[in-house]
Amino acid sequence: MIVNYGYKDGSGEYFISIDTEKCDGCGLCVEACPQQILEMTPNMYDPLADEIIPSVKEEFRKKLRFVCAPCKPVGKKVTPPCISACPNNAITHSW
Ligand code: SF4
Ligand code: SF4
Repeated sequence: MIVNYGYKDGSGEYFISIDTEKCDGCGLCVEACPQQILEMTPNMYDPLADEIIPSVKEEFRKKLRFVCAPCKPVGKKVTPPCISACPNNAITHSW
C-alpha cells in the first residue's frame, strides 16, 4: 500500500508517500527529519495490518512545500534527510 500525505495547489503537488510494503518501521526517517514533522503512527488506512509507519504530523500536512523547504528547496534536485535515512527506499516525494 502507498500512503500519501500532502496536497496540491496552483503551484504543484506536494506529497510524501510511504510504501508500506517496503517500510519495516525502523523510524530512522523520523529521527533524521530536522523539522520534526514526521512521527511513527499505526497505519490508519489499513488497521488490520497492525503496523507502525511514519506519517506527517497533522499540522504540517498542508504546509509541506514550506516546512520541507530548508532541506528540500522547490525546483532543486536534492535528496532530503528523510529519504537518505531510509534503508529500504520506502519514502518518495512528489516534488
Ligand atoms: S524533506 Fe526534510 S523536512 Fe520534509 S519530511 Fe523530509 S527531512 Fe523532514
Ligand atoms: S526509514 Fe524507511 S523503513 Fe524506516 S520507518 Fe522510515 S520509511 Fe520506514
